[in-house]
Amino acid sequence: AKAAGRRTFMRYDDNMDVAVRQRATLSSALRKVLDRGELRLVFQPRLSLATSRVTGVEALLRWSSPEHGDIPPNDFIPLAEESGLILEIGEWVLREACLVLGRWRQHGLDALTVSVNVSVLQLLRGDFPDVVRRVLADTGIPPGLLELELTESVLMANAEQTAAKLHAFRQLGVALAIDDFGTGYSSLAYLKRLPITTIKIDKAFVDGLPNDTEDAAITSTVIAMGHSLGLNVVAEGVETEAQMRFLAGRGCDEIQGFWVAQPLDALQCLAFIRNWRPDTPA
Ligand code: C2E
Ligand code: CA
Ligand code: CA
Ligand code: CA
Repeated sequence: AKAAGRRTFMRYDDNMDVAVRQRATLSSALRKVLDRGELRLVFQPRLSLATSRVTGVEALLRWSSPEHGDIPPNDFIPLAEESGLILEIGEWVLREACLVLGRWRQHGLDALTVSVNVSVLQLLRGDFPDVVRRVLADTGIPPGLLELELTESVLMANAEQTAAKLHAFRQLGVALAIDDFGTGYSSLAYLKRLPITTIKIDKAFVDGLPNDTEDAAITSTVIAMGHSLGLNVVAEGVETEAQMRFLAGRGCDEIQGFWVAQPLDALQCLAFIRNWRPDTPA
């Protein structure tokens, strides 16, 4: 029994070691990604339910590593945050997203918006509003066409400092979205306190539509509440026509999800938007 216990312990220990080593190699690989051009952005269209037009895109980060293959952002972004690299990566994402939008604007897509995900470390950094102002100026993007997506955890961290930053962004004219709305806690308090323009209802609540009565009640309530606060309401992770119809019936402003389109590379996304007709059957 003792030997078995020891073996179990050893195996556990070995696994831990492997996990730690994997994280360490991933972290050091991550350190080189910017230099080696291994990062790229994909873009997912967002659709207005009132007009059936593509109103904007969300930029999503992809890492294709020659050594480790394609690593999902949910795996490497936490590592980039731990090492502080997210600051450099986040600035690259912002600039690249604005550069791509700038190219699309030359094709006449002049009302299209781009949404960029922002990590807590970026927001807490003293000069982040200056970084955003500089990127907008360098790329010639009107501030009103940029939206920053912040999760509830970002908003909870250091509430005072966060509020000041958000007001600085609003002064710039940049739109501010709460991402994954409903998955954190105390969502309602900061809706009142912070100058948010958009709520993105998390996929977790959209999944059960239209039949799950709790999900239906929650989404309907969030849409109504968002509207009474003057906010733009977007539903994420819409995968079916039935979900889309439910959301349209409740007056949800916009949808995003595989039912409209998967995240696409810049060229494919431009083609998708240009070929999209409001009556295009998806
Ligand atoms: P998110 O911001 O909530 O992004 C939405 C995620 O849902 C994306 O996953 C997208 O590909 C996926 N998605 C969209 N529509 C559907 C659908 O209909 N069904 C399903 N099953 N999934 C859908 P992705 O690209 O893997 O990104 C995961 C998360 O990584 C993002 O969640 C965001 O939190 C983070 N992330 C991605 N890019 C960046 C970035 O540039 N900076 C930061 N800080 N975080 C990022
Ligand atoms: Ca997002
Ligand atoms: Ca989200
Ligand atoms: Ca999410």
